Amino acid sequence: MSINDDNRERVDKLVDAAEAEAYTICEVCGVSDSTVITIGPYRVNTLCAEHREKRTGS
Ligand SMILES: [Zn+2]
Repeated sequence: MSINDDNRERVDKLVDAAEAEAYTICEVCGVSDSTVITIGPYRVNTLCAEHREKRTGS
């Protein structure tokens, strides 16, 4: 199976958009607002302010 460069670029953009959206939704409660951020270069957690405090405050 081969994908030409045009299609390859299109798929990459779709994937980027999906990932960007996922990274703004808290993985615990599902809230999506400006407090939600993604933490960590390897073990990635996407958390709102409330759950970020719980996760890091122990
Ligand atoms: Zn949350």
